[in-house]
This record gives sequence, structure tokens and C-alpha cells, in this order.
Amino acid sequence: MIQAPKGTFDVLPADAERRSLLESRARKILGAAGYRRIETPVFESTELFQRGVGESTDIVQKEMYSFDDGAGRSLTLRPEGTAPICRAYLEHGMHKLPTPVKLWYLSSFFRAEAPQRGRYRQFWQVGAEAIGAAGPEVDAELIVLLAELLEVMGVKGTRLRLTSLGTPETRVEYRARLAEYLRANADRLAPEVRARIELNPMRAFDSTDPSTREVMKDAPKLLDGLAPDDAEHFAAVRRLLDTAGVRYELDPTLVRGLDYYTRTLWEFTSDALGAQSGVGGGGRYDGLIEQLGGQPTPACGWATGVERILLAGSEQPIAPDPVDLLVAPAGHGSAGADAASFELAREARRTGLAAQLELAGRSLKSSLRHADRIEARYVAIVDETGERANLREMATGEQQQDLAIATVIPTILRGSRLT
Ligand code: AMP
Repeated sequence: MIQAPKGTFDVLPADAERRSLLESRARKILGAAGYRRIETPVFESTELFQRGVGESTDIVQKEMYSFDDGAGRSLTLRPEGTAPICRAYLEHGMHKLPTPVKLWYLSSFFRAEAPQRGRYRQFWQVGAEAIGAAGPEVDAELIVLLAELLEVMGVKGTRLRLTSLGTPETRVEYRARLAEYLRANADRLAPEVRARIELNPMRAFDSTDPSTREVMKDAPKLLDGLAPDDAEHFAAVRRLLDTAGVRYELDPTLVRGLDYYTRTLWEFTSDALGAQSGVGGGGRYDGLIEQLGGQPTPACGWATGVERILLAGSEQPIAPDPVDLLVAPAGHGSAGADAASFELAREARRTGLAAQLELAGRSLKSSLRHADRIEARYVAIVDETGERANLREMATGEQQQDLAIATVIPTILRGSRLT
């Protein structure tokens, strides 16, 4: 038997219902704030992600599904949504639109990661991007919108971690300062942390080694070295969140696996998720559009994982769509009954009823059992002539015998009791 590739999954009908619910809630929350839906291609030029996400990131180094298009160009299945949206923004001259350009998406993404619960090779994200505005209200509003989406989806045990990265220049200067501090304390660091001092000193904050943790308590923090403008921007974001009653923890060690962030950075985690606890996050990326060849353009956005929201969200089973009418021909094989049943179901749908046709050749008795199972409100049994039908209301068991077929739909639409 051929199975789905490792790290992928099928969305079966019951899951699809919960995903649709998430989609409609996202549309409502983001639409009300002026975000409009966008969809970009599943694959892009590999160069977009190399330039947009960053050559040194794990995503670009080892997680991309890249392939040759047969004409010598390298294409990549999109691993994230922000770089493609910035590409589309530039390609379609969206800078001419009223500022900020607010876009949202619900799309699938691809990363060659080791699969586990909540981590897949094809996964889905809802994301939002606001391009062209620099103010702290943009950052705070985006955080509030994500918090709202997680809340309406019943995501349990959420925590919001927040920091500011300042500008790339501040970061370069900070890295040098941190590396110097680590070198000065090298003898108290775990060997693997010591080995990474030059390559990635920030990783030292993630170490679980007790002696390293002791050293890191007194390490210089990026947040303490922000330039005055960046510090004021961050303070304003925090004031807005405080006023909105959004709780957060300052976490100057927060890093996210993408190079393009500047200033505000945040991540929501959920206790309900285990090892892969990140449920959604984002940040400001004021340098990205320019890096992709556009004018300097401030922007901010987030992405949240659909599967993780569903794993950590409330488990309400979603009832299938209601069925108004099941149409079954009496005695399959009678051409008159089959054709008239087909027409009756079609006509019923045209008037707005949810109508299904009996398609499995069931006997009368098992058609009724099937109607019960799918919770149909009415069953119409069309007789051999195709002219008349019996109509049964399933809840009461009441029937009208021998109705002219043309009166079946009006009877249901009137909702009259069948006596
Ligand atoms: P990122 O773009 O890495 O910041 O991811 C944003 C969100 O997408 C995360 O918080 C997760 O909820 C989700 N996510 C990222 N990678 C995966 C994956 N491999 N499988 C499932 N969800 C993911």
C-alpha cells in the first residue's frame, strides 16, 4: 500500500470542519481590522528565500525543498509566507495603495524538519502582514489580533514572550559584546556553548547546563543596549499592550529562526503542546522590502500554525452540515423513479435546501436508517411512475402518502407538520 510521505498528513472531513472554523474566525477578526486575503504561489525562486529569510538560518541551510525547474533555475516550495508577500508587494506596486497595506493568508508551507507531534513537513499557517507603517500601534495591534484569534480558538495555557531586537547595527554591536563576555567566562561554560561563541553567541541563552546558566544570569542583555529610538518604540508597544490588558513576559533571550526581524519580536507558546510549544509569533521587519530590491519600507507581521492551534485548542466536535431532505427512489432500477428522484434533489438544492440523493442503491428500509444516521429532516420516497412521492418527517415519523411530486418542496419549505 502506498502511504503519504513522512511528515505529511491527510485532512479528513472531521478535521476539515475545524479548519474551516479557524478560517472563518481568522477572516472575521482580520477582516474587521482591514486585512485582505492574499495567496501567493506554492513555489518561488530559491533566491527569494536565500535573500529574504537569510543564508545563515536553519530554514535556508537545511530545511528547504528545492528543485531544478528543468531549465536550470532553482525553485523552492515556500517555507514561510513573509518573503513571498513582500515579493508580491513589490511586483504589483502595492506601495501605491493606501498605507499600510494589510494582508492575511491561510496557506500551506514546507520544511524538511524531523517530524513529531505538532511538527510536520507540510503544515498550514494563518498569517498577517502590515506593510508601510512604522508606528508602535501597528505592532501592538498585530499582537492583539493574534491573541484574539488564539483565544476564540480556545487555545489553552498561552504565554506571550516579547522583546525588541533593535536595529541590525545594534545587534552586531551587541553580539560582539556578548561574545567578549562569554570569552571572559569561557572556563565556566559547557563545551558546546564554548564552541559556538564566535558562530552564534545568542544560543548560550538556551543552554540547560547549570554552570552556563549561572554565567548567563549576568550576561549583557540586548534590551539594555537599545538605541533611544528603538527603546521608545518598544516602550510604546508595551504601553499599548498594557492598556489592552494583554499579558506578556519580557524575554530578551527570545530569538526566532528568521534573519529579517528588527525591533519588536514576539512569540506565543502553549502549555498544551509539549516540546513544540510555539503556537504563533512574529515581529517587525523594517529592512526586508529593501533587501528584496524595494524602497526602505517598514513592516510587521505574524504567523500561527493551524495544526498547533487545533492541537492546543478546545476539542469541540463539529456537527456535520444539517440535511433537509434525503430523496430515495422506491425500487431502484425503475427509470421513472430514478430520474424523478435525481430531479427532485436537484430542484430542492436550487431552492436552497440541503438535499442528498440516495446513491448507494439502498432498500427502502435501509434508506430510512441512513436518513436517521445523517440526521435528515425529511425523506422523500419517489414512486415507480416518478409522479408521486411519500414524504416522511424523521423527527416525528409523520408521513404524507402519495403526494404529487411537485408539492414535496413547497411542503418542506412551509415547514408544515405532516399529518
Ligand atoms: P515560524 O515561521 O517558524 O515562526 O512559525 C510560525 C508558526 O508556524 C509556529 O509558531 C508554529 O505554530 C507553526 N510551525 C512552524 N513550523 C512548523 C512545522 N514544521 N509544523 C507545524 N507547524 C509549524
